[in-house]
Amino acid sequence: MSQTMSETIPTRGPLPPEPVVTKRPSRSAWIEVDLSRLRQNYQAINQDRPKGVQFLSVIKDEAYGHGAFAVGKVALECGAAFLALSNVDEALTLRQRGIQSPLLLLGERQAAELSCCIEHNLTCCVNDLHTAEKLGQLAANAGRRVPVHLKINTGMNRYGIRWTDALPLVEKICAIKSLALEGVLSHFSMSDELDKTFALLQLERFTQILSGMAKRGLSVKYRHLCNSGGFLDLPQAHFDMVRIGMLQLGVYPSKVCRRINGIAPIMSVKARVAALQSIQKDDVVGYGMRYQAASPRRIAVIPVGYGDGFPRVRNQGCVLIGGKRAPLVGGVAMDALTVDVTDLPAVQLWDEVVLMGRQGTEEISVNEVAQWKNSVSYDVLAGWRARLPRIYVNEPGTA
Ligand SMILES: *Cc1c(COP(=O)(O)O)cnc(C)c1O
Repeated sequence: MSQTMSETIPTRGPLPPEPVVTKRPSRSAWIEVDLSRLRQNYQAINQDRPKGVQFLSVIKDEAYGHGAFAVGKVALECGAAFLALSNVDEALTLRQRGIQSPLLLLGERQAAELSCCIEHNLTCCVNDLHTAEKLGQLAANAGRRVPVHLKINTGMNRYGIRWTDALPLVEKICAIKSLALEGVLSHFSMSDELDKTFALLQLERFTQILSGMAKRGLSVKYRHLCNSGGFLDLPQAHFDMVRIGMLQLGVYPSKVCRRINGIAPIMSVKARVAALQSIQKDDVVGYGMRYQAASPRRIAVIPVGYGDGFPRVRNQGCVLIGGKRAPLVGGVAMDALTVDVTDLPAVQLWDEVVLMGRQGTEEISVNEVAQWKNSVSYDVLAGWRARLPRIYVNEPGTA
């Protein structure tokens, strides 16, 4: 293999055409994303955000399942200085759809990805000298000076250079003429719980590096440390920019972090009743006969299952139909789940059902679904599968 071959990643073929976004779901189960509520969330965040603190919109993993392009576009319109992704594929998809804003790649890059990053103006986090030199060489060859961010590991022990070793690396990166050190960042391992002891220790380590840099006359445009939890609860750690992922989607990172007015979830998961069964006393429902009726019951079948990301629960959880909670009976299958609607006689075939979100005055929150899944809100949002079509509502210009 020639050296140039090993330095470039294979370019992707042309992307398939974008799915046509229509108001009418192509399946009787879908994800609904409310873009006007998304705008309201940015308004609330912008009102709360101190002047001089920029924001970066984290839209990795399709903006936690909401659609990276749609969320990123609104984020930029609402003032985001950067969009952040976790890998090159995610960033290239946005570039191919015409997004020209600064894109920051969180995490580490392998050498083979670097020339592609330069070509498409993807800003990398560079955390070791070898990668910095390599990127610098490629930039010089291209006659460019490319911006980089340096990630400092202040205790998370995932990505980044250990804080105790960071200053010499900062100096070396600054000495590479074809690189411009634009940002220095770190990441909290616990910013949204009541106990801020470790977050404050991380802040102290980060601040140490920054003052070491100041002593050497080295400055950067963006010092950034906060995720949503830090933005809400650690104003002393805001620096020049905050990285907002979860909060923009209307979900708080924890039960105990500070609340701001005007934040509401933008994702709902909906379906329609696909079948109704009247069953007799002692009849069983579903695989494994996990439910047996103690009396005559009316059962509604909802065409959503664990293959769509619904938690694989048994006789636990509920959905909303006609503004009321209908309990799950039996187990969740790959493509279907069953609920008891005996107490909701008005329910008809193809009635709308809410699996997550609001219906009337009732709400099934992402945190409630997370409990059924024995997991957290992040996992629930990102865990809805691409098999469910995503519908955007309240998008200006498409009403
Ligand atoms: C995912 C991520 C964020 C966003 O975190 P939220 O809690 O969703 O706001 C911020 N910074 C980094 C480095 C991340 O990986």
